[in-house]
Amino acid sequence: MKERVKDRKQQPSERIKNFNEVSFGYDEKQAIEEASRCLQCKKAPCVKGCPVEIDIPRFIKEIKNGNFQKALEIIYEKNLLPAICGRVCPQETQCEQVCTLRKKFEPVAIGKLERFAADYANFKLSCDINQIPEIKNKKVAVVGSGPAGLACASELARCGIKITIFEALHKPGGVLVYGIPEFRLPKKIVEKEINQLLTLGVEIKTNVIIGKTLTIEELFGIGYKAIFIGTGAGLPNFLGIPGENLLRVYSANEFLTRINLMKGYLFPEYDTPVSVGERVAVIGGGNVAMDSARSALRLGAKEVVVLYRRTENEIPARKEEYENALEEGIKFIFLVQPIEIIGDENGYVKFIKVIHNKLGEPDESGRRKPIPIEGSEEIIPFDTTIVAIGQSPSPLIPQTYPELKTGKHGNIIVDPETCKTNIKGIYAGGDIATGAATVISAMGMGKKAAKSIIEYLKQNP
Ligand code: FAD
Ligand code: SF4
Ligand code: SF4
Repeated sequence: MKERVKDRKQQPSERIKNFNEVSFGYDEKQAIEEASRCLQCKKAPCVKGCPVEIDIPRFIKEIKNGNFQKALEIIYEKNLLPAICGRVCPQETQCEQVCTLRKKFEPVAIGKLERFAADYANFKLSCDINQIPEIKNKKVAVVGSGPAGLACASELARCGIKITIFEALHKPGGVLVYGIPEFRLPKKIVEKEINQLLTLGVEIKTNVIIGKTLTIEELFGIGYKAIFIGTGAGLPNFLGIPGENLLRVYSANEFLTRINLMKGYLFPEYDTPVSVGERVAVIGGGNVAMDSARSALRLGAKEVVVLYRRTENEIPARKEEYENALEEGIKFIFLVQPIEIIGDENGYVKFIKVIHNKLGEPDESGRRKPIPIEGSEEIIPFDTTIVAIGQSPSPLIPQTYPELKTGKHGNIIVDPETCKTNIKGIYAGGDIATGAATVISAMGMGKKAAKSIIEYLKQNP
């Protein structure tokens, strides 16, 4: 068996000086070569590993035969955002994890092939095929334009339902535009895929905050027959330690939003600079921490250090992104947690006091629990701190519409199969229901909710 084909990338010494995409993806020859590694398994476990069940062997076969257009058509049967998912899906824990080849070799690079098809071919979505006469032209509101809202909206629009997406920010896309940096997911790719969805007739109203500009009751009052809530997990978690209000302490959410959505990385072209010092500490170990660390480096920090409370083995970031961070010179200190941020006389971060940990028994997440070692405190100089320890579900709608049942972490409780909430006609999915998860799982829930909404509209004409 031939080795997995490596994609072409910008060299680390070059890419840390710009925000351009790190990976160039496959060219035609490489894609055909990689596609030829697929065994075309009859039972195709990879399909079950994909939350939206793309017919993976079928699209890979078309790439192998040079039919890139056909390959993309097959992907679109199940996934309306292939260029995005091909880039950011945690493939190694989904479709690729269960690839038959993985028993002896590296799995087929399913994500990279999906990205290739989406980048090389064009596809025009159509809503003629699935129109359902009895519910055509009914109005449904979708709150939030992240992957969950977009997936739900486009499935419904394909059936002829009139969809309005209400989005709080000035741009649609959710985390795809305000969170994930340009060097991993170029915004023109996001725009292209969202514009494709708009051809289905979906209307997006930006700068509308449901719960403030309009309430849930008002949406029903102005004729929306059902509502899907996909408002994500936009509430940053904090450490709850002294010094978190010092200058140059950022939540990763704020830091990345300023860079991505407000184009802080294009200062002075955009007048929205982001102040970063020379020695930056990033607290956390997930994708958000890697994105923050790599962005800080590109903004000119001399040294960026990730402080993570467990070890390299437990790090939750995608392996590829962790490796990219290492290649770029990001440093890691494992088994430490901050207990205080210490400021200078002007109120800026000067030091972080940490305590060292050892690992105990596994906790409810299945990972070994970090236990602080008494007397192991250490003070390390840093002038910037970025807190990337997770996000909680966006609280506004549950707060302003308390009839909705929520869980102890503030998530909206839904039936996992139908995405129904406890209120008739209201559905929810994505990070607002699950807590911070992945793009494709949010899309999977958006699609499930769309199915339920169609049934609901049929039963309640
Ligand atoms: P979101 O994408 O959060 O979208 C919710 C939208 O709702 C937002 O646009 C928000 O402005 C809007 N909204 C909120 N409240 C209201 C309101 N009251 N009224 C109107 N609109 C509202 N996942 C991966 O699979 N791979 C990755 O590599 C990856 N990297 C990530 C990196 C970062 C920095 C972050 C933050 C997340 C990352 N994720 C990644 C997670 C992934 O992006 C999310 O799981 C996914 O975007 C969730 O989709 P969603 O539609 O539920 O919510
Ligand atoms: Fe794999 Fe994600 Fe593509 Fe599904 S959408 S095939 S999980 S990369
Ligand atoms: Fe191809 Fe792997 Fe899927 Fe088998 S499991 S069909 S080898 S991608």
